[in-house]
Amino acid sequence: SKHRKIAVVGARNVGKSSLTVQYVESHFVESYYPTIENQFTKQLVLGKTNYTLEICDTAGQDEFSLVNTKSLIGVKGVAIVYSCVNRASFEIVELIRDKILDQLGLEHIPTIIIGNKIDLRDAASNGVITKQEGMALAKKLDAGFVESSAKMNVGVEEAVLQLLKRIEGLDQAG
Ligand code: GDP
Ligand code: MG
Repeated sequence: SKHRKIAVVGARNVGKSSLTVQYVESHFVESYYPTIENQFTKQLVLGKTNYTLEICDTAGQDEFSLVNTKSLIGVKGVAIVYSCVNRASFEIVELIRDKILDQLGLEHIPTIIIGNKIDLRDAASNGVITKQEGMALAKKLDAGFVESSAKMNVGVEEAVLQLLKRIEGLDQAG
C-alpha cells in the first residue's frame, strides 16, 4: 500500500485531537491533553489503491507556537482546523498555512480547511463563522473545505478523503 503522512494543525482547543480520534478510532474523546502530540496510522482505500495514512495530531505549547518543524517532516498534506464558534481560531488559519509553507520551503501544499464544532453553532449567539466565510477562505487559499463535528461524527471521513484526493491529484476528477 501507499504511505502518506498528513498533519492536523490549527489553534488550540478547536478539536484537532477529537477529530483525529474520531476518524481513527470511531469515538469521541471529551478531553485530551492539549499539549501532547500524537501519531496515528489508519488504512483506507481510495479508488483501487490501499493507503496507509500516518496522521500527526499536532499540539502547540501555546497559541503561537503553532507547528514545530519536526512534525512536518515528510508531510504530504495538511488539515487546518478552526472552530466555527471561535473567530480567533478562524482568523489564524491563513497565518498557519503561510508558516507551514515557510517551514517546508514550498509554495503550495495540498490543504483541507475544516470548520469544526458545527453542532455548537446554532446555539452560539455571536462570533460564529458561517459556511460562506469558511468557503471563501478556502477558495482564497486554494484549499478544500469541509464543516465538521467530531462530536456527532459529521464531515470527518469526508475531510480525510478530500485531502487524500488533493494529495493524489484526484480532486479535479472528484
Ligand atoms: P485540540 O486542542 O485542537 O486538539 O482540541 P481537542 O480535540 O482537545 O478538543 C477541545 C475541546 O473541544 C474538548 O473539550 C472537546 O471535547 C471539544 N470538541 C472537539 N470537537 C468538538 C465538536 O465537534 N463539538 C463539540 N461540541 N465539542 C468538540
Ligand atoms: Mg489536541
